[in-house]
Amino acid sequence: MRQLRMAILYHRVIFQLVVVMWEERSRDEIWDLIVVGAGPAGLFCAASASGGGRKVLVLEKKRTPGRKLLISGSGRCNLTHDGDPRSFLDHYGEAGRFLRPALLGFTNRDLVAFFEERNLSMITMEGGKVFPETQKARDVLDVLLAECEAWGVEIACGKAVTSIVKSADEFLVACGDDAYRSRILVIATGGRSYPATGSAGDGYRFAEALGHAIAEVGPALAPVRIRDYPFADLAGISLPGARVSIFRGRKVKEGAGDVLFTHDGLSGPGILDLSRDIWAGDLLRVSLAGLRKKEEMERWLLARSEEEGGRNLRSVLAELAIPARLASRVLELLEIPQETKCASMTRRMRIDLADHLSGFPMIVEAVGGFDLAMVTRGGVDLMEVDPKSMESRLVPGLYFAGEVLDVDGDTGGYNLQAAFSTGFLAAERIKKRLAEMEDGR
Ligand SMILES: Cc1cc2nc3c(=O)[nH]c(=O)nc-3n(C[C@H](O)[C@H](O)[C@H](O)COP(=O)(O)OP(=O)(O)OC[C@H]3O[C@@H](n4cnc5c(N)ncnc54)[C@H](O)[C@@H]3O)c2cc1C
Repeated sequence: MRQLRMAILYHRVIFQLVVVMWEERSRDEIWDLIVVGAGPAGLFCAASASGGGRKVLVLEKKRTPGRKLLISGSGRCNLTHDGDPRSFLDHYGEAGRFLRPALLGFTNRDLVAFFEERNLSMITMEGGKVFPETQKARDVLDVLLAECEAWGVEIACGKAVTSIVKSADEFLVACGDDAYRSRILVIATGGRSYPATGSAGDGYRFAEALGHAIAEVGPALAPVRIRDYPFADLAGISLPGARVSIFRGRKVKEGAGDVLFTHDGLSGPGILDLSRDIWAGDLLRVSLAGLRKKEEMERWLLARSEEEGGRNLRSVLAELAIPARLASRVLELLEIPQETKCASMTRRMRIDLADHLSGFPMIVEAVGGFDLAMVTRGGVDLMEVDPKSMESRLVPGLYFAGEVLDVDGDTGGYNLQAAFSTGFLAAERIKKRLAEMEDGR
């Protein structure tokens, strides 16, 4: 007991010393708001909270802001998705409920209007994805930076925050030898994927040090590597609207979407969106010929052999819109001679073909790591954050925005929309809070 008391006392003394040292180093200035991270969530939050007249500082680790935003959508930036804002709630798994106030408070339509009012028109592309008309992520970032400048937000780059401490009524933010003080603090440091862009998971450490729990973090929207992959030389072939089923003893999940063959496995929205549920060792079955089930496929093949027995099997498979090289590879793998006529297809061949075309089996060697994943699943535990304000339930004045939260969405613009919507909601509440502080409430 005595030892425990001594340990607590020791930590208190150290904490006070740290606070005193920091106050010394940053005596002169206190910011109304410091935002850590100049990604879309941080920049949009800073600009929206500023309201002019407020002292707002964004601290960014990299030498330039918005590095991940610049590579989003392969540099074209799939900003959001078209359609009813309520339909968004189904694209974030269980986090959809938490995001409801944010996504309905600042919707996809609000986001498009924000950019269009600033002369960056948007276009809706295949499947409802919304991009800037110029198809340049740079233009999206430029609008955000111009907005920050217009509101007098200061952006300090090359400033990697190393620790954050809360004293009685302010935050003390250390960046190596520099230190900053602020009334309100937003952690918008992103997730852990593509760490070269700056988002390397620092925010989880800061949140933890401030008392927050972190839901286990892992890669999401990641491609998968396939064991003994037979399609390496077919990399680049895409199967539109394929059915993907995950088996782990029994079927655990099924989805549909475009699947892309890579040099060592599978990617494309049909795989990426399911990747949060795929484990190494899982059996994946991918339909190569649309959504036909095995029995239906078998009946179709039987009808072909009865009606067009003289036709070459490969030319018949072309009717299923299977790329010719893929059809030929499947025949090879099933040891069916390439020149087989439909009439000479044996029952065994027909069953094998139907089985593999309706769900080609592949074993997952590994799911892509953080260097390949587009987003991070897990993050700051949502139970400890108020969904109506993005404020910490544990530390007054502390807010979270963007991917640092335990939130990950499907491909199609859902992740950037969540970053903007949570950034905006936090900003709305921060403005009110700063006004209350000024009124002495
Ligand atoms: C290749 C790729 C393509 C993508 N394409 C799309 C797409 O088209 N559509 C879509 O919706 N989503 C896309 N995403 C996901 C989307 O980019 C992210 O979800 C989004 O950028 C998250 O925004 P954020 O502001 O929360 O975090 P980030 O954009 O990650 O920004 C966080 C910022 O915090 C900074 N930071 C981190 N630690 C510190 C620290 N200690 N001190 C100071 N600063 C720090 C980082 O340097 C970074 O600039 C893509 C992701 C990748 C990797």
